[in-house]
Amino acid sequence: SSFLSSDLDKLSVLGHGNGGTVYKVRHRRTSQIHALKLVRADSDPAARRQLLREVEILRRASDSPHIVRCHGVAETPSGDMTILMEYMDLGTLDSLLKSEGSEFFTESILAGIARQHGRKIIHRDIKPSNLLVNAAMEVKIADFGVGKIMCRTLDACNSYVGTCAYMSPERFDPDSYGGNYDGYAADVWSLGLTLLELFMGHFPFLPPGQRPNWSSLMCAICFGDPPPLPEGSSEEFRSFIECCLQKDSSRRWTAAQLLSHPFVLKAVV
Ligand code: ATP
Ligand code: MG
Repeated sequence: SSFLSSDLDKLSVLGHGNGGTVYKVRHRRTSQIHALKLVRADSDPAARRQLLREVEILRRASDSPHIVRCHGVAETPSGDMTILMEYMDLGTLDSLLKSEGSEFFTESILAGIARQHGRKIIHRDIKPSNLLVNAAMEVKIADFGVGKIMCRTLDACNSYVGTCAYMSPERFDPDSYGGNYDGYAADVWSLGLTLLELFMGHFPFLPPGQRPNWSSLMCAICFGDPPPLPEGSSEEFRSFIECCLQKDSSRRWTAAQLLSHPFVLKAVV
């Protein structure tokens, strides 16, 4: 499916990413609101390839209720590439945590997120800033930036510290933490870390306010103790987090097992 960018009115900028900008747009005829990601014609070829890959994945997964719906792709007359997507009105979990604080993320909301994402998805880049939310508290994965996650030089790595922060121990060190990881296990780690961050209000492996750097992160994740389980939380929540944050990937619960964990079963449907 494709669309005419001339049918869309740009209302505001929702955010900037690697090589692209996302706008809130209104379709003139239907008045529907969508999100439009635009990668300019003169941008880095890598960003354009990245967008094509993203479109391909979004399209293949377009029947999943847990992935942002892709309405179509188009190239503008000036060569800009655009994807028209479902608009997620509450933005990312990351921005919601910043604006509303961790009080917003009650255990029942966290259990709802866990239930929605306790399915087999190989994403490899699950973190608060890649999960979009709408007013119905549906949480959907955006951004299949698959290609750009692997970092080759230390420099590139440092600019992706934010991404690496949610990487599981076996991705830093496959030999020590269960080398035959299948990607699903890595997502379970990232999901657990994301839920814990929403509950605590800061990145769990570091004290509040401390900016991660590559070596402190790798040390904390691979050699440090697991983050302390949050006080004042239910036993089910603590247990769920523990099951997700097993350092050894072979001892970590699978997505299927997590779906029948008491914390998830308790979630109001
Ligand atoms: P990267 O380039 O590394 O993928 P990113 O994920 O931040 O970075 P984009 O995917 O381009 O970049 O998105 C930029 C921002 O636009 C997001 O952080 C989010 O705030 C907003 N955004 C993206 N898609 C939507 C959407 N469908 N609905 C609402 N807001 C969105
Ligand atoms: Mg993105």
